[in-house]
Amino acid sequence: MSATSITADKISDSGKDDVLKFTKFYYHFPVPFVIYADFECFLEKSDADHSVMHVPSGFCALMVSIFEEHDYKLHCYSGKNVMDEFYNYMNQEEQRIRTILNQNNAMIELTEDQNICHKIATVCGTCKKEFTAINFKMRHHCHVTGRYIGQVCQSCNLQLKCRTWNNEFFVPCFFHNSSAYDSHLIIKYLHKKESKITVTPSNTEQSIGFG
Ligand SMILES: [Zn+2]
Repeated sequence: MSATSITADKISDSGKDDVLKFTKFYYHFPVPFVIYADFECFLEKSDADHSVMHVPSGFCALMVSIFEEHDYKLHCYSGKNVMDEFYNYMNQEEQRIRTILNQNNAMIELTEDQNICHKIATVCGTCKKEFTAINFKMRHHCHVTGRYIGQVCQSCNLQLKCRTWNNEFFVPCFFHNSSAYDSHLIIKYLHKKESKITVTPSNTEQSIGFG
């Protein structure tokens, strides 16, 4: 349970379970890919009923990644069938990301400094709990690059993985003014494609999302 989701009326009596703890240690594992996107539209007026349609004229998407070689990839499109182009772009990126994150490369040998730091560490770099005979010290490494990340306990090592959403890798995509504008274009289009849409309504953290 995150601290922000606890309300005053749920806090226990003094002395009984009254310590708030952060437990979702898998959130320490950075999201490896994020997309920032925005649509542009032109207004199409109808003389018949005086209505105005917002018709997409293009989009721009910026891929940001923790992996240097995949970081800051810009994709811009302007022309016809914008939503089809966006859908194709997202599908291609999804497949590309899946291939990258499905790698399971062995750990690269630690440098001398890394070996020393690992050896003298007495607490987990993530949950800060002390290493014990039953909660071993482990070498946490990136399965894509093979690079050593740090010392973690056995429990954290099992949790620190790429997050998934509907059995696919979780890749957040942020839109400028999404809830008020871009999401209308996307959801209408996905509805036509008969895609399954999962919606996260506006919550206490003022976050709105769909996937
Ligand atoms: Zn730990």
